[in-house]
Amino acid sequence: MSWIDLALLDNEADLRQAIENLDEQGRTTVLAELVRLLKLGKGEAEQTLIRLLLERARPFSIPGPLWGRSPDSSDDMKRPTERHFKDLGITSSPERLRAVQKMYLQFSSERVKERRVTLADLQKQDFRCAHCGLAFCNEELTNKGFPSPHGVRRRDKADPLKPQWARADLRVPTLDHRWPISLYGSNDEGNLYVLCRGCNDGKSACIGREQLPSFIGLPQRITLLGQYPISNELLYAQIAREPKCWKTGASAKEIELTVEIVDSYKPAFLDNLRTVESPGV
Ligand SMILES: [Zn+2]
Repeated sequence: MSWIDLALLDNEADLRQAIENLDEQGRTTVLAELVRLLKLGKGEAEQTLIRLLLERARPFSIPGPLWGRSPDSSDDMKRPTERHFKDLGITSSPERLRAVQKMYLQFSSERVKERRVTLADLQKQDFRCAHCGLAFCNEELTNKGFPSPHGVRRRDKADPLKPQWARADLRVPTLDHRWPISLYGSNDEGNLYVLCRGCNDGKSACIGREQLPSFIGLPQRITLLGQYPISNELLYAQIAREPKCWKTGASAKEIELTVEIVDSYKPAFLDNLRTVESPGV
């Protein structure tokens, strides 16, 4: 069994069954093939796997009884945590106990999402989207009551692969939570930063490149037909895995980033894209 036989299975049940049927040698072979095909760096497959499995393991980091504890309860947290660590064969330390308490507090209360983008938020990032570097010009700040140091953009760029250039509503600044609200991410300053609407939609509630929508590897039907732009999710995914221009090394802090197709005989899909500077603002 090779990766190609798995990739050509057209339904989830057969795919799951085929993966389950792989023996140790089969798993090693397919994994090695995928690493080679996708040109993954050393250890990248294992890093991705660890990141994904950590979200399943995270609930085990807090003792069971604590999940049902009221945030303002005065019950001792230390003892159940020490017992929990002992059950799991984990050594208890003051740092770990403090971290459990902090994590418990993080999960124990609902967060409010509403907070508007302020002048200070934008100044911290030189009036740029932290993900794609899109410069917020005066056109994007019409309701804000302050001007942009980038001035007026005047004309839209012709960039068929970046959805933000086709739609003005994708260029407005929005606040994003690094650790998503759906994971009880906080409204602390350190967890908030400004993304353009397109990047924010593309990121959705994903944490990073390991958590992307299932369809992200595939070209969409519209791109198969040679019509652009690509989806916000695809642009987000590409810049998340390659956050700098492949030619100059410039990042979103300095320049607007976009994507280009590596092999023009193939459609726009994740492993046929690379990040590149978008000349201009
Ligand atoms: Zn952006």
